[in-house]
Amino acid sequence: MNKKLAKLAAAVALAAASLSANATFDITIDYTGDSQYQTYFNQAESFWENIITGYQAGSFLTGFTIAANIEYIDGAYGLLGSAGPTSGVLYGGYAMTTAGGMRFDSADMSAMATSGSLGDVIRHEMGHVIGIGTWWEENGLYVSGSGQYTGANGLAMYKTEFNKPSATYVPVELGGGAGTAGGHWNEIDNGAGLTGVVDSQGRDMRNELMTGWLNAPTFISKTTVASLQDIGYTVNMNAVPEPESMLLFAFGLPVLVGVARRRKAAAA
Ligand SMILES: [Zn+2]
Repeated sequence: MNKKLAKLAAAVALAAASLSANATFDITIDYTGDSQYQTYFNQAESFWENIITGYQAGSFLTGFTIAANIEYIDGAYGLLGSAGPTSGVLYGGYAMTTAGGMRFDSADMSAMATSGSLGDVIRHEMGHVIGIGTWWEENGLYVSGSGQYTGANGLAMYKTEFNKPSATYVPVELGGGAGTAGGHWNEIDNGAGLTGVVDSQGRDMRNELMTGWLNAPTFISKTTVASLQDIGYTVNMNAVPEPESMLLFAFGLPVLVGVARRRKAAAA
């Protein structure tokens, strides 16, 4: 081992030692867009920080920075934005995000805010930056084209939460084209129909935050939260919040927004 590597190894060991005793997870958003939307990004950050408590044993990470921009992309509807990890690391057996990016079309921001969907769209996209649907294959939880998520924690929760005791996988979206397929929990009819996968509160998977199409009112399932453990995080299962945007939807327009990892299409 040369000097440089030895130094690096020592630094990493030190970081791991000092952080394992005080596990933290912090998202920093480097937001450059219109200040009137800043609060939506702050709320999405808090949303995920309340759920994620740190990293699985051995990680030297404490979070990451997400560059968030609003820029003209293609005008109203069409592409609303894109998001994902922009760099990652393999550590402790996990592929994890070390930096991310989100961009949104300036032509769509006002309509999303008015309809009440903006908060959910940002939370959803941030979920992809965190690794939901974007690090599945690298972590051995999903085989491309299979439609079957087999991560142990996510699957165990799915069986309980949705009363599917004999399930051997969590169904993954295969429709919607590149950017949607393979990166979301499954829906049917491009988000138009009920999936029949219902939790004890009667909530259909169609309305789950990390499905490929946004249907209001949304909820985040415990399955999604538990699945974060499969991609290297520690979580607080009791932190699963009710969506704060539910009231907004009460007077919002009907929303059917396609939300994808790289691409989103909206129809109003
Ligand atoms: Zn998505």
